Amino acid sequence: MKGEVLSKRLFRAGTVIFEGGDVGDCAYVIERGRVEVATSYNGAKTVLGVMGPGEILGDMAIIDDEPRSASAIAIDDTVLTVITPEQVTTRLQEADPVLRLLLMVTLERYRNELRRFQGGGTRDTPAERKGKRRALLTQDIIASSQQTAIDKFKLESDLRGAIANNEFQLYYQPIIALDGETVAGFEALIRWIHPERGFVNPGEFIAVAEETALMVPIGRWVLQQACEDLKTFNDVAGECEAPPIFVSVNVSGRQFASGTFLDDLRTSLAATGVKPERVKLEITESLLMNYAHALDWIRDARDQGVRIALDDFGTGYSSLSYLLHFPIDTLKVDRAFVEHMHEDARSSSLVAAIVNMAHTLSFDVVAEGIEEAEQSAALADMGCEFAQGYRYARPLPSSEALDFLRSSCAR
Ligand code: C2E
Ligand code: CA
Ligand code: CA
Repeated sequence: MKGEVLSKRLFRAGTVIFEGGDVGDCAYVIERGRVEVATSYNGAKTVLGVMGPGEILGDMAIIDDEPRSASAIAIDDTVLTVITPEQVTTRLQEADPVLRLLLMVTLERYRNELRRFQGGGTRDTPAERKGKRRALLTQDIIASSQQTAIDKFKLESDLRGAIANNEFQLYYQPIIALDGETVAGFEALIRWIHPERGFVNPGEFIAVAEETALMVPIGRWVLQQACEDLKTFNDVAGECEAPPIFVSVNVSGRQFASGTFLDDLRTSLAATGVKPERVKLEITESLLMNYAHALDWIRDARDQGVRIALDDFGTGYSSLSYLLHFPIDTLKVDRAFVEHMHEDARSSSLVAAIVNMAHTLSFDVVAEGIEEAEQSAALADMGCEFAQGYRYARPLPSSEALDFLRSSCAR
């Protein structure tokens, strides 16, 4: 049988499927029949359980590559489907490092308990454990992913305290109206000033917040803070007789799906008294794709008067059917498209086509990541309404954003 790949195996009633101490070269799903799993100590057998159709057997050995810890005997004529180590290893290596670490710890603990129960000695030393970990643990990537898992746990627990400790700040990047090169609005971008690590990139912690439910309270804080700051921005715009400006807030699917977002939005708008049409929610295509209720959420938000921008347009699936079915107001064209437009005619034609399409559907367009004056000029020629990027300003702390607004009014 060794070396032969059979997807199903039949074991007659009373035959041994494997014995404790055997090399574990596969696991099984029971298709038909029953299997007794037992261990023995000093010649006395202890039945650990009887398993039936649909249950998995012999899985531990293919995860950690240690010998079988118990014996399995077919009670009836039994048909088993084979699960090979290859089927498992790739999936384990691609799994979330936190899950992999927990699986390994749990498995090791179980094996130790079983050994003690069987009269075996104490736990392995760390060096012995390392020597044994093969399928899941000997590769370098596993060692580094264990570190990643631990770093992630730490980051997550630090994030939990960050709101209470006032470690977040909102930065604001100006969004410029291309017709007069004045400030039309700001995009709120979160910053985390960690007490030990200093500035932590949103690229790093937003992903962790998204994986947990932490994005929900963080997002609630962002929305409330952005509405409060918008009031101040518009006081300044009013003082210098500039038209009112808007603020754009990034909202993730996780936040909408929490079920409290739409109420949080209502609360923030009511508490600050800002005009809802001055608040824009930036969502991504992945939100539209991955959540069945996305259309209801967006309709509800728009019924409250806020506007919707589709962020990073062009980088995801860009299914044009979203543009038809979802009530959006603004398309934000990703930096990847505008990056080469001043030196590459094809890029430029593509951006022009996107701008035209957006206008046909009555959306306005923000071009992201503008770094060169030529890009702004070309976009203005295409009729693109807004631009955002380092050419105008990097994301600024709110006090500097106010200064930027004041100097834009003075022009
Ligand atoms: P995003 O929404 O696409 O934000 C634009 C990012 O591009 C920002 O990075 C901004 O600093 C950067 N950027 C702006 N202009 C230029 C430019 O001219 N050149 C280049 N190279 N980059 C430019 P940032 O602030 O690091 O944010 C990264 C991402 O983190 C954001 O991407 C957004 O997806 C997420 N994020 C930030 N704040 C929040 C938040 O409050 N809530 C949620 N859910 N996500 C947020
Ligand atoms: Ca954005
Ligand atoms: Ca973007």
